[in-house]
Amino acid sequence: MADPLVRFEGVRKSYGAGPAAVQSLDLDIARGELLTLLGPSGSGKTTTLMMLAGFELPSAGRILLEGRDIARLPPHRRGVGVVFQSYALFPHMSVAENVAFPLSVRGVAKAAQADRVRRALAMVRLESYGERRPAQLSGGQQQRVALARALVFEPPIVLLDEPLGALDKALREEMQLEIRHLHQRLGVTMMYVTHDQAEALTLSDRIAVFEGGRIRQCADPRRLYDRPADAFVAGFVGENNLLPGRIEARDAESCEVRLACGPVVRAEAVDAGGPGEGCLVAIRPERVAVAGVTAAELGEGALPATVLEAIFLGDHVRLRLGLGDGGEVVAKRPAGLGALPEPGGAAAIAWPEGAAFAFRDAGARV
Ligand code: ADP
Ligand code: MG
Repeated sequence: MADPLVRFEGVRKSYGAGPAAVQSLDLDIARGELLTLLGPSGSGKTTTLMMLAGFELPSAGRILLEGRDIARLPPHRRGVGVVFQSYALFPHMSVAENVAFPLSVRGVAKAAQADRVRRALAMVRLESYGERRPAQLSGGQQQRVALARALVFEPPIVLLDEPLGALDKALREEMQLEIRHLHQRLGVTMMYVTHDQAEALTLSDRIAVFEGGRIRQCADPRRLYDRPADAFVAGFVGENNLLPGRIEARDAESCEVRLACGPVVRAEAVDAGGPGEGCLVAIRPERVAVAGVTAAELGEGALPATVLEAIFLGDHVRLRLGLGDGGEVVAKRPAGLGALPEPGGAAAIAWPEGAAFAFRDAGARV
């Protein structure tokens, strides 16, 4: 990336014995983008954020902010705003005093503080709450105060670590949109940490998927969903059927896979080995077409299946289908498509060309 705002260069963090929490990280953050670190618990997201914020020292590598190595600067000299899951507001101070705090630390004169605090509170729609104590606000409002406090000194980048983790689902979704709109309006660069893939898809310009202290893939939400780079990303972002099998034949782009449950299917060879090697075939549930007819009637490439379970979910029906000898496929079928056989009945499944991907088995690759 040309002229990134932030650059991690070969950054590693080890807390002692055992594998490093972050292993040789290379990552650029563009000016004005909202980049999300997405991954399961313990994958190294917070450690990465803390090294950029200045609360952890890297064991190796460089962290550049506007081209300057900041890895060894104390937090308050980096100009980085941070919002944590626990709001970390000062309970004995008013909302306005909380928001003014970073300005005091940076030696901004009292007279100049009031106006900036007012503007920061307006950004998060809390203009009239300056005199309250944090305890007199709802969880969502407290988190907006924390956001105002991170924005008030106009840092070039704001870091948010699971900032909505303590909120209930409805409020979390409302706040996701609020953060997204705030980001679009202010144009401030953000690095956002979450373990929630739906949250990451909602918010992000780009998503870096973390696993075991490494980035598995970094791409925009649509590409991550449509072209996952490996089986881990395929399983973690959105939902996927991951069917084990063995490659029988392959060319540069695609391969034929004998599934462990019996049938042979064609798949894009994104990250797959050669003939004889094991793999996982990924197919999104919404790409699986299901019909209550024989496989021959559904057309070429269709597979005979058995309906195991059908759950009505309003806009779609979630089907569990038996495939071959002990295989199982989940399908999401629009609710208006008409009846299917009862559980136990025969059906046929198929998916469009290009919807199935073959990956190396992530578990076998350490
Ligand atoms: P995430 O935020 O993705 O859940 P973390 O960055 O918090 O992951 O943790 C990554 C790994 O580093 C985990 O194995 C965790 O136990 C370990 N770790 C994190 N902080 C410390 C610490 N202060 N001391 C020792 N180990 C730590
Ligand atoms: Mg964390």
